[in-house]
Amino acid sequence: MATVIDGKAVAQTIRSEIADEVRQLSQKYGKVPGLAVVIVGNRKDSQSYVGMKRKACAELGIKSFDVDLPEQVSQAELIKQVHQLNANPDVHGILVQLPLPKHINEEEVLTEISLEKDVDGFHPLNIGKLAMKGRDPLFLPCTPKACIELLQRSGVSIKGKKAVVVGRSNIVGLPASLLLLKADATVTIIHSHTSQPESIIREADIVIAAAGQPMMIKGSWIKPGAAVIDVGTNAVDDPTKKSGYRLVGDVDFGEASKVAGWITPVPGGVGPMTVTMLLKNTLDGAKRYIEQNN
Ligand code: NDP
Repeated sequence: MATVIDGKAVAQTIRSEIADEVRQLSQKYGKVPGLAVVIVGNRKDSQSYVGMKRKACAELGIKSFDVDLPEQVSQAELIKQVHQLNANPDVHGILVQLPLPKHINEEEVLTEISLEKDVDGFHPLNIGKLAMKGRDPLFLPCTPKACIELLQRSGVSIKGKKAVVVGRSNIVGLPASLLLLKADATVTIIHSHTSQPESIIREADIVIAAAGQPMMIKGSWIKPGAAVIDVGTNAVDDPTKKSGYRLVGDVDFGEASKVAGWITPVPGGVGPMTVTMLLKNTLDGAKRYIEQNN
């Protein structure tokens, strides 16, 4: 049976490490990290993610700057707000909650975030540096960084291993594959046009699944002893639940946990780590700024 990687417990450990560093920063410089969380409109899911992020900041002593804009806000006004946050020395990280309303061009907005404050790691220059040999981006995107952190803290070695990433989105699959490559794995990316993904996955020592396809990856696809990080978070109907649904990953956990060496559950695996990585990026940005300017 696989070792089940407890994302909640790892996230808790990292959060107390962050809280310690925030205290040290405050004692030494009288300053704390600041994170601006910008939300446009009233989408329920976005409101709930933003609420989680702001609450987590408060718990760790990170100051949160709340910018709540109406659904009809113009792109020019949103960019003006981003510029104001760029200029505010108490703000060390800026996060614009996605998706934005249809009349706003996300790429044009994200590009306006100062590189030094791009705690989501989505700025094209940060992603570009991630893709280049010998260059280091200022920030790594949170979910891919969470996957690598879970592997490393579980004692899974990456160097020289065969890794497969299922999915190639800008926010998860692609940067996860680039991070594995930087860590010296040999990486294959599977996407919706890949034929016979099972034969590729069977070769992998490390699998990162981020396709958004409920239980697509079967136990028989997993190499015995492999490390499996399941990013997929899919709601499937479940009449036995009060809510009428439950969350499952992209991996068939019941089957795969009998074969794998390590596996993350859904929920309770990558999910709790993603916000924690955002807080870590904010702390790192703040340390960089405060130490350079004191
Ligand atoms: P996207 O829909 O943007 O990307 C999905 C990717 O998977 C695409 O590259 C797509 O290929 C590929 N894909 C889809 N179906 C298949 C298939 N049958 N076989 C192989 N590849 C396939 O999703 P995201 O990257 O945003 O998210 C992926 C999953 O991760 C979702 O379940 C999401 O909820 C979850 N997630 C979880 C987070 C967390 O913190 N736990 C954070 C972010 C996401 P193609 O490019 O060809 O279309």
